[in-house]
Amino acid sequence: MRNLFRVLVATLVVALSVASCSDKGSFPTEPTPTPVPTAPVADMSSLSPEARAYVMATNIEAFRVLSGPRVWRWASGQIKLYFDPTLREEDVRNAASYWEKYTGGSITFQIVGDKASANITVEHTLVGLIENACGSGTPVPSTDRGFFSVGIVRIFQGLVPKCNDRSRDVSVIAHELGHAIGLTVHSSYLSEVMSSPSSGYLNISDPVKDAVYWIYHAPPGATPQ
Ligand SMILES: [Zn+2]
Repeated sequence: MRNLFRVLVATLVVALSVASCSDKGSFPTEPTPTPVPTAPVADMSSLSPEARAYVMATNIEAFRVLSGPRVWRWASGQIKLYFDPTLREEDVRNAASYWEKYTGGSITFQIVGDKASANITVEHTLVGLIENACGSGTPVPSTDRGFFSVGIVRIFQGLVPKCNDRSRDVSVIAHELGHAIGLTVHSSYLSEVMSSPSSGYLNISDPVKDAVYWIYHAPPGATPQ
Protein backbone atom coordinates (compact mmCIF):
# COMPACT_ATOMS: atom_id res chain seq x y z
CA MET A 1 0.00 0.00 0.00
CA ARG A 2 2.78 2.37 0.88
CA ASN A 3 4.57 1.51 -2.36
CA LEU A 4 1.43 2.12 -4.36
CA PHE A 5 1.10 5.51 -2.64
CA ARG A 6 4.70 6.36 -3.55
CA VAL A 7 4.06 5.43 -7.18
CA LEU A 8 0.93 7.60 -7.24
CA VAL A 9 2.78 10.55 -5.70
CA ALA A 10 5.70 10.12 -8.12
CA THR A 11 3.31 9.96 -11.08
CA LEU A 12 1.50 13.06 -9.85
CA VAL A 13 4.79 14.99 -9.46
CA VAL A 14 5.85 14.06 -12.98
CA ALA A 15 2.45 15.01 -14.36
CA LEU A 16 2.51 18.36 -12.55
CA SER A 17 6.06 19.12 -13.65
CA VAL A 18 5.20 18.39 -17.28
CA ALA A 19 2.10 20.56 -16.99
CA SER A 20 3.98 23.36 -15.30
CA CYS A 21 6.69 23.18 -17.89
CA SER A 22 4.32 24.07 -20.69
CA ASP A 23 2.21 26.43 -18.61
CA LYS A 24 5.11 28.59 -17.57
CA GLY A 25 6.28 28.90 -21.16
CA SER A 26 9.80 28.13 -20.21
CA PHE A 27 10.75 27.58 -23.85
CA PRO A 28 12.36 30.67 -25.38
CA THR A 29 9.92 32.96 -27.11
CA GLU A 30 10.12 32.69 -30.87
CA PRO A 31 11.72 35.77 -32.41
CA THR A 32 9.37 38.08 -34.30
CA PRO A 33 10.13 37.56 -37.99
CA THR A 34 11.75 40.60 -39.59
CA PRO A 35 9.47 41.83 -42.36
CA VAL A 36 11.06 41.55 -45.76
CA PRO A 37 11.08 45.05 -47.29
CA THR A 38 9.09 45.20 -50.47
CA ALA A 39 10.48 47.36 -53.24
CA PRO A 40 8.25 50.37 -53.85
CA VAL A 41 6.26 50.25 -57.05
CA ALA A 42 5.15 53.23 -59.09
CA ASP A 43 1.94 52.72 -61.02
CA MET A 44 2.11 54.14 -64.55
CA SER A 45 -1.44 53.26 -65.51
CA SER A 46 -2.66 56.83 -65.05
CA LEU A 47 -0.26 58.14 -67.71
CA SER A 48 -1.08 58.61 -71.37
CA PRO A 49 1.06 56.54 -73.76
CA GLU A 50 2.98 59.72 -74.70
CA ALA A 51 3.67 60.70 -71.09
CA ARG A 52 4.64 57.13 -70.23
CA ALA A 53 7.09 57.04 -73.15
CA TYR A 54 8.66 60.32 -72.01
CA VAL A 55 8.98 59.12 -68.39
CA MET A 56 10.71 55.97 -69.60
CA ALA A 57 13.09 57.74 -71.98
CA THR A 58 13.96 60.76 -69.88
CA ASN A 59 14.26 59.16 -66.45
CA ILE A 60 13.86 55.38 -66.08
CA GLU A 61 15.97 54.31 -69.05
CA ALA A 62 18.49 57.09 -68.56
CA PHE A 63 19.61 55.59 -65.24
CA ARG A 64 18.94 51.92 -65.96
CA VAL A 65 22.65 51.11 -66.07
CA LEU A 66 22.99 52.31 -62.46
CA SER A 67 19.99 50.72 -60.88
CA GLY A 68 17.83 48.79 -63.27
CA PRO A 69 14.44 50.33 -64.04
CA ARG A 70 13.82 52.80 -61.23
CA VAL A 71 12.51 56.31 -60.64
CA TRP A 72 15.31 58.83 -60.04
CA ARG A 73 14.49 62.21 -58.50
CA TRP A 74 15.26 64.73 -55.80
CA ALA A 75 13.85 63.92 -52.37
CA SER A 76 10.72 65.86 -51.49
CA GLY A 77 11.47 69.13 -49.75
CA GLN A 78 13.82 72.02 -50.19
CA ILE A 79 16.66 72.15 -52.71
CA LYS A 80 19.32 74.79 -52.12
CA LEU A 81 20.04 76.69 -55.31
CA TYR A 82 23.04 78.90 -55.96
CA PHE A 83 23.28 81.09 -59.03
CA ASP A 84 26.09 83.04 -60.58
CA PRO A 85 25.73 86.79 -59.80
CA THR A 86 25.97 87.57 -63.53
CA LEU A 87 22.50 86.03 -63.90
CA ARG A 88 19.40 87.93 -62.86
CA GLU A 89 17.84 86.70 -59.63
CA GLU A 90 14.37 87.26 -61.06
CA ASP A 91 15.10 84.86 -63.94
CA VAL A 92 16.45 82.18 -61.60
CA ARG A 93 13.51 82.56 -59.21
CA ASN A 94 10.97 82.34 -62.04
CA ALA A 95 12.66 79.26 -63.51
CA ALA A 96 12.76 77.61 -60.09
CA SER A 97 9.12 78.37 -59.32
CA TYR A 98 8.22 76.93 -62.73
CA TRP A 99 9.31 73.46 -61.57
CA GLU A 100 7.87 73.96 -58.09
CA LYS A 101 4.57 74.39 -59.88
CA TYR A 102 4.85 71.45 -62.28
CA THR A 103 6.16 69.01 -59.65
CA GLY A 104 3.01 69.87 -57.71
CA GLY A 105 5.01 71.35 -54.84
CA SER A 106 6.95 68.15 -54.15
CA ILE A 107 10.13 70.19 -54.30
CA THR A 108 10.85 73.82 -53.48
CA PHE A 109 13.98 75.85 -54.13
CA GLN A 110 15.78 78.01 -51.61
CA ILE A 111 18.16 80.54 -53.13
CA VAL A 112 21.46 80.51 -51.26
CA GLY A 113 24.45 82.81 -51.66
CA ASP A 114 26.97 80.23 -50.59
CA LYS A 115 27.96 77.97 -53.46
CA ALA A 116 29.49 75.35 -51.16
CA SER A 117 26.19 74.75 -49.37
CA ALA A 118 24.11 74.52 -52.57
CA ASN A 119 22.58 71.34 -53.99
CA ILE A 120 22.21 72.81 -57.47
CA THR A 121 24.51 75.45 -58.92
CA VAL A 122 23.56 77.62 -61.90
CA GLU A 123 26.63 79.21 -63.38
CA HIS A 124 27.40 81.34 -66.37
CA THR A 125 30.20 80.39 -68.72
CA LEU A 126 31.56 81.96 -71.86
CA VAL A 127 32.40 78.58 -73.28
CA GLY A 128 29.81 76.54 -75.05
CA LEU A 129 28.96 75.62 -78.60
CA ILE A 130 27.19 72.34 -78.03
CA GLU A 131 24.43 71.53 -80.51
CA ASN A 132 23.73 75.22 -80.79
CA ALA A 133 22.51 75.06 -77.18
CA CYS A 134 22.51 77.88 -74.65
CA GLY A 135 23.23 75.74 -71.63
CA SER A 136 23.59 72.34 -70.04
CA GLY A 137 22.01 70.72 -67.03
CA THR A 138 22.92 67.49 -65.26
CA PRO A 139 21.70 65.71 -62.15
CA VAL A 140 24.21 63.64 -60.20
CA PRO A 141 22.84 60.46 -58.60
CA SER A 142 23.67 59.94 -54.93
CA THR A 143 24.75 56.66 -53.42
CA ASP A 144 21.16 56.14 -52.27
CA ARG A 145 19.42 54.45 -55.14
CA GLY A 146 16.81 56.72 -56.67
CA PHE A 147 17.99 60.05 -55.25
CA PHE A 148 19.89 62.94 -56.80
CA SER A 149 22.32 64.77 -54.55
CA VAL A 150 23.85 67.38 -56.84
CA GLY A 151 22.75 69.30 -59.90
CA ILE A 152 25.00 71.26 -62.23
CA VAL A 153 23.57 73.87 -64.57
CA ARG A 154 25.69 75.95 -66.94
CA ILE A 155 24.42 78.86 -68.98
CA PHE A 156 26.44 79.51 -72.14
CA GLN A 157 26.87 83.09 -73.22
CA GLY A 158 29.27 84.65 -75.63
CA LEU A 159 29.55 82.46 -78.71
CA VAL A 160 26.05 81.68 -80.00
CA PRO A 161 24.31 84.98 -80.80
CA LYS A 162 20.85 83.90 -79.63
CA CYS A 163 22.31 82.90 -76.25
CA ASN A 164 23.31 86.50 -75.60
CA ASP A 165 19.67 87.61 -75.59
CA ARG A 166 19.05 88.13 -71.89
CA SER A 167 15.28 88.00 -72.36
CA ARG A 168 15.68 84.29 -73.05
CA ASP A 169 17.51 83.51 -69.81
CA VAL A 170 14.45 82.49 -67.82
CA SER A 171 13.42 79.87 -70.36
CA VAL A 172 17.00 78.61 -70.80
CA ILE A 173 17.44 78.28 -67.02
CA ALA A 174 14.05 76.54 -66.76
CA HIS A 175 15.10 74.09 -69.49
CA GLU A 176 18.43 73.30 -67.85
CA LEU A 177 16.85 73.03 -64.39
CA GLY A 178 14.43 70.56 -65.99
CA HIS A 179 17.42 68.41 -66.90
CA ALA A 180 18.85 68.81 -63.39
CA ILE A 181 15.66 67.53 -61.73
CA GLY A 182 15.60 64.38 -63.82
CA LEU A 183 14.17 65.19 -67.25
CA THR A 184 17.42 64.17 -68.86
CA VAL A 185 16.38 63.96 -72.51
CA HIS A 186 14.57 66.36 -74.77
CA SER A 187 10.92 65.98 -75.58
CA SER A 188 9.85 65.36 -79.15
CA TYR A 189 7.30 68.18 -78.89
CA LEU A 190 8.28 71.41 -80.53
CA SER A 191 8.36 74.83 -78.96
CA GLU A 192 8.10 73.82 -75.33
CA VAL A 193 10.30 73.98 -72.26
CA MET A 194 12.05 70.63 -72.81
CA SER A 195 12.28 70.73 -76.60
CA SER A 196 15.72 70.82 -78.18
CA PRO A 197 17.79 72.84 -78.34
CA SER A 198 16.88 75.04 -75.41
CA SER A 199 15.35 77.72 -77.48
CA GLY A 200 13.37 79.98 -75.29
CA TYR A 201 10.00 78.46 -74.50
CA LEU A 202 8.20 78.39 -71.19
CA ASN A 203 5.10 76.53 -72.27
CA ILE A 204 4.88 72.83 -71.50
CA SER A 205 3.23 69.98 -73.40
CA ASP A 206 0.77 67.69 -71.65
CA PRO A 207 3.06 64.62 -71.83
CA VAL A 208 6.00 66.50 -70.25
CA LYS A 209 3.72 68.12 -67.66
CA ASP A 210 2.21 64.75 -66.71
CA ALA A 211 5.63 63.07 -66.73
CA VAL A 212 7.30 65.45 -64.30
CA TYR A 213 4.26 65.41 -62.00
CA TRP A 214 4.26 61.60 -62.03
CA ILE A 215 8.01 61.35 -61.34
CA TYR A 216 7.63 63.71 -58.36
CA HIS A 217 4.72 61.75 -56.91
CA ALA A 218 6.44 58.37 -57.22
CA PRO A 219 8.72 57.07 -54.46
CA PRO A 220 12.39 57.59 -55.36
CA GLY A 221 13.85 54.24 -56.36
CA ALA A 222 10.44 52.78 -57.21
CA THR A 223 10.08 50.26 -59.98
CA PRO A 224 7.62 51.50 -62.60
CA GLN A 225 4.75 49.18 -63.47
ZN1 LIG B 1 18.62 70.43 -73.16
